[in-house]
Amino acid sequence: MKIDDQTTYSSILCDIQSEIQPEFGKGKVANYIPALANVDPRKFGMAVCTIHGGEWLCGDATERFSIQSISKLFTLLLALQEVGADALWKRVGREPSGSAFNSLVLLEAEKGIPRNPFINAGALVVTDSLVEHFSDPIRHVLAWICELTGDNNIRVDDDVVRSEAACGFTNAAIANFLKAHGNLHAEVMPVLETYYQHCGLSMSCLDLARAVLPLANQGISIRTRNALMPSARARRINSLMLTCGLYEGVGNFAFRVGIPAKSGVGGGIVGVVPGKLTICVWSPELDEAGNSLVGTKALELFIGKTGLSIF
Ligand code: GLN
Repeated sequence: MKIDDQTTYSSILCDIQSEIQPEFGKGKVANYIPALANVDPRKFGMAVCTIHGGEWLCGDATERFSIQSISKLFTLLLALQEVGADALWKRVGREPSGSAFNSLVLLEAEKGIPRNPFINAGALVVTDSLVEHFSDPIRHVLAWICELTGDNNIRVDDDVVRSEAACGFTNAAIANFLKAHGNLHAEVMPVLETYYQHCGLSMSCLDLARAVLPLANQGISIRTRNALMPSARARRINSLMLTCGLYEGVGNFAFRVGIPAKSGVGGGIVGVVPGKLTICVWSPELDEAGNSLVGTKALELFIGKTGLSIF
């Protein structure tokens, strides 16, 4: 099968959309953030972007949804670029946590050093570094996303931000715990505010697949040809996604799908096939680890049909 052929991807995405139908109704839409509970559970979209500029879509691929933890990928890349890798990696680890994304358990045993930047504790440290560095951090996050996607219309959904802030007791506990251990430098409130803002970004499958294309292309933008990050960083971030991108579901995801990916409780999963393409799927019903249930199935089918697993 010639994988870069346009009709091939179109028909693969169409086939996947019909094959995943029996999976609906098996997961649960996130409801601990009240604004997310209202999203239609039958939404489904997929977008594929290749490093040669090809784009393929199906279903609700251009509808924007709450990217939630997928934003942790963008804040990490921004912090590595602007704050510096050495400073950041002293404050956050690079190992899978094996526990829920909002768990506090390891943080106590490990004295306020989060296991990795993709669990909430680690992402709060990354956000803290941005709050320390910029007077208006979310503006810089938006500018960075504009640089990655070429789209300056991507926005934060304020309803989602307010809704999460009103019920964000666990994140407040994590941030206070980090502060108590000296691993939060700014004040707790502005860090939480900025964290909820970047989690509340609305993007579509197409936006997200475009945004991560440099990770498939050795750090280089396929749009401007500029290096947006060193190639070694792109490689390392892909490794980190493979080992930490789906919380305690990461091993099962690697077994079933086998590509670096990052999920969010809005139901999005974005994946990278280095040297080839990026893919994003959106389906709001989640499995027990908080990863899109239908989305995981769709990616498993995509990899099965294309043979594009990295292994
Ligand atoms: N904003 C969410 C939270 O902090 C993000 C979690 C996620 O997407 N896994 O709980």
